[in-house]
Amino acid sequence: MNVFMSLQQLDQLPRDFIKRKIMINLEQTKYKVIDEAVQLLEWKITPSEVECHIFWKDTYVTDEEYRRLLPYQRINHFPGSYMLGKKNELCRNLNRMRKMFPDDYDFFPRTWQLPYQSEEVRQKQGKAIFIVKPEANCQGRGIFLTKKLDPFLDKHYVVQEYLSNPYLIDGLKFDLRIYVLLKSIYPLKIFMYQEGLARFSTKKYVKPQKKNLGSVTMHLTNYAINKRSKDFVFNNDTNKDDVGHKRSLSSVLKYLQDQGHDINQLLNQIKKVIVKTIQSVQGDLTHLYRSQQHNTDGIEQCFELFGFDILLDSSLKPWLLEVNHTPSFSTDTPLDKIIKRNLIRDTLILLDVKNKPKKIYLDQKRAPVYQRPIKMSLEEKEKQQIKMSLYEDKHLNGYIKIYPDEIKDYYEQFMPPKLKERDSMINQQLEQFKNVERALKNYIEVKPSKSKNAKRLSTNQSLSDLDGQSLQQLTGRNTVIPQTRAVSQQRPFSSITTINRTISAVRKPVLSNQYQNLNTSQNQKRLVYPSPVEFHPKPVYKMIPIKNFSFQKIENNQKNE
Ligand code: ADP
Repeated sequence: MNVFMSLQQLDQLPRDFIKRKIMINLEQTKYKVIDEAVQLLEWKITPSEVECHIFWKDTYVTDEEYRRLLPYQRINHFPGSYMLGKKNELCRNLNRMRKMFPDDYDFFPRTWQLPYQSEEVRQKQGKAIFIVKPEANCQGRGIFLTKKLDPFLDKHYVVQEYLSNPYLIDGLKFDLRIYVLLKSIYPLKIFMYQEGLARFSTKKYVKPQKKNLGSVTMHLTNYAINKRSKDFVFNNDTNKDDVGHKRSLSSVLKYLQDQGHDINQLLNQIKKVIVKTIQSVQGDLTHLYRSQQHNTDGIEQCFELFGFDILLDSSLKPWLLEVNHTPSFSTDTPLDKIIKRNLIRDTLILLDVKNKPKKIYLDQKRAPVYQRPIKMSLEEKEKQQIKMSLYEDKHLNGYIKIYPDEIKDYYEQFMPPKLKERDSMINQQLEQFKNVERALKNYIEVKPSKSKNAKRLSTNQSLSDLDGQSLQQLTGRNTVIPQTRAVSQQRPFSSITTINRTISAVRKPVLSNQYQNLNTSQNQKRLVYPSPVEFHPKPVYKMIPIKNFSFQKIENNQKNE
């Protein structure tokens, strides 16, 4: 059984998605395939920076661009994703992790950053062959193999031990391009696409020797380099995706399976490489993402499609060569086109972009400040996360969820300590909320005859009836319900905030009964706000003739005669 879908199966997969009027801004991408995928979903392409729900950009996102995003908008990069995409940054992050977890982070060839680690690498010189890479180039540009590093020790390079025993197919070296969707950084959600590419070098592989070190079409598998060779065979028939120097990932996996290799085991190893690599920057990315995040009510504003380059050695161990944060979506061959079009389409479906948050945002912009919503409570966020996970599980199409998965506990140890703390803090808070909710429910439901202290809260009573009472009797916890003002005295925003933050669980039964008829507008579905009139009864002044020579305030329900 093939664990990966074949290219044809992937292409013909019935895709279940809800048609929505979504707008995408493609002003900053040159790739036509993005446009094609968008057409398949019947989304609209717009140059507007306000109208669009999504921005798709070929390069990374700047801080300024990220800051300017409106709360309902998304962009296809995370701020700081260069921490994976730049060779020197990746080297720094994975070396740091390897120091802490030497056995778990041994999937990255030994790598040094020059000139900072020149002393360390100088000592390694001898028999080993090194591959030297410019810090921020791509497509094999400026890469070379050498035994002697002395001339380069004071320059800015990334030096890596050369893996000289790659797995060969037809005598050729190849590497795998695996597409990975980082859908959310906190909580971490990672998906791996089932189809990708295998890029072959064009010259038969021979172990590195002094005389062949300069042969780039033997040692490097980059498409950009090898396609210029007269030996390069383009794949022009998608029904035969196992021929040529660029093939489908599934065809290579099938080949390996036919050779008797355990593909499941290989895939599990690859998944671990991907998750652990992303975990190495999770702390930094989360910090950058959250430090400028708007009140998005749970919308994941950034997502990123990475290209992971994996080399298999002769024992079929996967090695991470690099991570592309701006992988190429050019479609030179029909094979590229099928794979990338489905990849982008499935990515956009998985995002579950909706129109509603935009509508709510625009409505709220027009509403007075005190009617604007406050942040979602933890509990609401948790519910939303569960809903989102259910959606994701149903709309994977060509994706596999690789984090969280059944070995989530194994990954726990690599999680940045601050996030681990945060996780447990959030869980504690949620637990507290639930306890308070349970206690209040009991309090509301308990029958007066059965309880000595508790009184039933009738529908026309408000939270202010609970003023200052200790919850200790109710919950057994040392919590006090905050003082709430009488409705007529309430300051609209602060009191609602207090109620929401502290005892969100009881907001609905009490407030909605009081104000249910006052607000019907769409954008107030989540919270039922009292109308301004209700909060600040307009005083009506009455002229008292002759005797007192003054104005006297009367109740607003008295008619002004
Ligand atoms: P680029 O971003 O320029 O493509 P890579 O790090 O991906 O740089 O390297 C280019 C190619 O060099 C890879 O596709 C692979 O074929 C080869 N290569 C890179 N690093 C190693 C290594 N450590 N051992 C063996 N081959 C390597």
